[in-house]
Amino acid sequence: MERKVLVIGDQIVELGEKKILRLLVGHLPSGTRIYIHIHVNRAMDPGPVILLIGGMHGDEINGIEIVRQAGRKYMQSALQRGSLITIPLLNVYGFIHFTREVTDGKDVNRSFPGSTKGSLASRIARMLYKKVLPQVDVLLDFHTGGNQRYNYPQIRFTKNDGPSIALAEVFRAPFTLASTAKPNSLRQYASKMKIPNLAFEGGESGRFDGFSIEKGLQGIRSILEHYQMIVPAVDPALPQSHTLTGDTWIRATYSGIFIWQRASGVYVNKGEILGSISDPDNMRIEYIKSKTSGYIIGHNNAPVVHVGDALFHIGW
Ligand SMILES: [Zn+2]
Repeated sequence: MERKVLVIGDQIVELGEKKILRLLVGHLPSGTRIYIHIHVNRAMDPGPVILLIGGMHGDEINGIEIVRQAGRKYMQSALQRGSLITIPLLNVYGFIHFTREVTDGKDVNRSFPGSTKGSLASRIARMLYKKVLPQVDVLLDFHTGGNQRYNYPQIRFTKNDGPSIALAEVFRAPFTLASTAKPNSLRQYASKMKIPNLAFEGGESGRFDGFSIEKGLQGIRSILEHYQMIVPAVDPALPQSHTLTGDTWIRATYSGIFIWQRASGVYVNKGEILGSISDPDNMRIEYIKSKTSGYIIGHNNAPVVHVGDALFHIGW
């Protein structure tokens, strides 16, 4: 935790320095070079190195915005000790195409540890894994829900990863969910490297959600205060998070026009009506009931659904 110099690629950042590093990851067919921008802010006093990542999925705008705002708020002059590294936009390709994946459809978050000769997603993963992660003590990765799927602001940590669980308790998102890290994900490899790490989810892709952005920023503040990197705010402490140990999806039992009656953030009881699906001719109305009691932590905003589509994500 007491690194005198940070070495990222062939660039060095000393204590007390502030730099924006550019790492070349490729070119567009037009010849335009694609760089990933890494904002490094270091206080004079050593301390932990915290990395915030946004835009691993190019259309997950809330994550990008949280990291962008945190980068502005906690610049070098605001840090009392330690280092803050922000990468507001990891997947430039997805961002300019308004998509989750890179241009060949591959997911950066399933491409770790990556390869310098592999697919585009694999090259981005490799750059992060080899050049940035070895310099990092704590990792926070900011995501947004899927297309038309809203996630109530929540933190996910890898089951049985003790240091990450402790970190989740400090972050205090409205919900904290234990989950298994997906194979070849950033979370899986960060845990292998013994870097405490969390993934944040909030809102839905391609759409701003002020509430999720606020909760993401509050969590970052809480983490920076915990490591005594910033002056503690006078605001009251964040409420305790609801820790969830299990989750399930309620799926559509019919295809048609979907109207939800219960949305993310509320507690529902087993058997409670959550919404309805009807066809345009009013031949049939199907009511969707909860098969368990728990909190709705995500819901589908699509107005038209097919049988089997995931409608409500419930955690308990
Ligand atoms: Zn994502």
